[in-house]
Amino acid sequence: MAISTKVSGFIERASWIRKMFEEGSRLKAIYGEDQVFDFTLGNPSTEPPKAFNKALQELALNPQPGMHRYMNNAGYPETREAVARHLSKVAQSPVEAGHIIMTCGAGGALNVTLKTILDPGDEVIILAPYFVEYIFYVDNHGGTTKTVPTRKDSFQLDIDAIEAAIGPKTRAIIINSPNNPTGVIYPPEDLQTLGDMLERKQQELDRTLFVLSDEPYARLSYDHAEVPCIFSHVRNAVIVTSHSKDLALPGERIGYLAANPAMDEVQKFMEGAIFCNRVLGFVNAPALMQRLVAGLQDESVDIADYQAKRDVLYNHLSALGFRMVKPQGGFYLFPESPMEDDVAFARLTQEHRVLVVPGQGFGTPGYFRIAYCIPMETIQASLPAWEKIARDTGL
Ligand code: PLP
Repeated sequence: MAISTKVSGFIERASWIRKMFEEGSRLKAIYGEDQVFDFTLGNPSTEPPKAFNKALQELALNPQPGMHRYMNNAGYPETREAVARHLSKVAQSPVEAGHIIMTCGAGGALNVTLKTILDPGDEVIILAPYFVEYIFYVDNHGGTTKTVPTRKDSFQLDIDAIEAAIGPKTRAIIINSPNNPTGVIYPPEDLQTLGDMLERKQQELDRTLFVLSDEPYARLSYDHAEVPCIFSHVRNAVIVTSHSKDLALPGERIGYLAANPAMDEVQKFMEGAIFCNRVLGFVNAPALMQRLVAGLQDESVDIADYQAKRDVLYNHLSALGFRMVKPQGGFYLFPESPMEDDVAFARLTQEHRVLVVPGQGFGTPGYFRIAYCIPMETIQASLPAWEKIARDTGL
């Protein structure tokens, strides 16, 4: 027994990821990289904006003494200030550097926040379809997850169902908009209804209920869709986010958490979260990246490029008879599986060298996820394979 039973169980539970990866590697070895249409990973093929490379070069040419040292666990003051200025614009109300902690990605920010707020046995509500790591992150900090489905045809918030799931052990709800895997954005009216409901429940239960708003796709929205700021609607809200997607820097592990200045005992929360950033072993977010992203708060990758990819795939698949919500943001599609068994469907697509992830991986069987953050040529080259898949499944 080299590892814990719990971790063995988690590995088994998330085994579809490994299976997809192994199958992809096998097919690529046989047919070549460019002959396999791999839609499984949310790892952007796009490069960071030019401004990032420019800032990196300038810094490399002008190294500053001490630039690789430890720092305050919350991050460099100037980076936190730059983020706070950006968020103040988004929130249309003041956010200060003192409400920001630089983190190792959104994953780091989620772990820091969960460790800060959870007592053993506390419950965290997650909404299906969900980003599966939430389950493991909550467990990391002694909590348990309770799953509430989103609305069947729209994948929008089902606030009555969320309310019904709240009990004396509930501590938080994790939301993600624009959403992975569905691409939906939650409208401001729904966030307000959520915020109002939580105010009521907090009074009733005499307990703080947090909303963790996981927003790594916030700058990736299409057709001018607005991504509302959670701070305007939910008082006890924490934004957890990163530059993994909007600046295409997932390997650099740079993100942040931001506490709503209006939160209950916000200073206490910040004190706890700074401590947790340290003792989780992150210590602080990567120094070099903090210096770079400070000047890139208004930059992003080419959104029009993602929108063009969405349009090509959405239009092609819809014309073939696949049914799905048109994504308003992010870089995923979540169509209904034309076969009842979404794992069997994912196996069938593999026969056409198309790799997708079954909906079960997101707690929602009967669907499948396409990540379209891959080169346009690969997307275009995959279109005939999708026609064959549609034919094979009788669409
Ligand atoms: N949350 C969601 C919904 C994601 O899709 C991802 C990554 O794919 C993350 C969090 C983690 O992102 P990061 O690289 O910032 O840790």
